[in-house]
Formats: sequence, C-alpha cells, structure tokens
Amino acid sequence: MPRRGKKMLNSKRTPILAPPPAQKEYQIKIVTEQCDGCELCVEFCPCDVLEIDKESFNSRMLHYAAVIDLDACTGCRQCERICPSVSIFVLEKDIAQEDSS
Ligand code: SF4
Ligand code: SF4
Repeated sequence: MPRRGKKMLNSKRTPILAPPPAQKEYQIKIVTEQCDGCELCVEFCPCDVLEIDKESFNSRMLHYAAVIDLDACTGCRQCERICPSVSIFVLEKDIAQEDSS
C-alpha cells in the first residue's frame, strides 16, 4: 500500500509564468593570505564554483581557494558561512541598478 503523501512529493508543478531574469550577479572575494586551503568551501559549494589552486601558495606556503566558474554562482553564501578563517566573501552586483545608471 503506498504511503500517504507520496503522490504529493512526486508531483511536478509547472510554473504559470516564466521565472524573471536574474537581477543579481555575484563576485567572490577570497583573502588568499588568510585562506588555509581547508577545502570546506569547495566541498560545500553546491554549484562547483570553487577549487583549490594547486599551483599557487600564499606566504604561509598553503594553497588557497580560487574561483573557477563564477557564472554558476547563485549567491547562496554557503562558502562564506562555512569558512573557518573568514577568508571568503560573496559580493552582490546589482545588474538592474547598473543598467539604469
Ligand atoms: S555563494 Fe554559493 S554558489 Fe556561490 S561560490 Fe559560494 S557556495 Fe558556491
Ligand atoms: S573554507 Fe575558507 S579557509 Fe577553507 S579553503 Fe575555503 S576560503 Fe580557504
């Protein structure tokens, strides 16, 4: 016997209107000297925006995080929240405001 509510969970709803175009772009600021290269931001980013730069070192001889696909960033700020050394910041760039100026 199917469990109650299962049909509801599997149902797919189609939006009546197309979603509005994105009004925001994001920039990721990484303080490379502060970054420990722990990879937490890489692991927790749901969009594969970040990677550890294995070619470069900071002054503490640690690899640091780098942005590899900024267009994929949704601005969810998971990276910012998870970073133990507060080395990564998500900055919003308001496209709508830039267009009107
Ligand atoms: S804001 Fe979200 S999508 Fe963008 S880099 Fe950070 S974790 Fe990834
Ligand atoms: S979570 Fe912070 S310290 Fe760790 S790699 Fe990312 S930016 Fe660097």
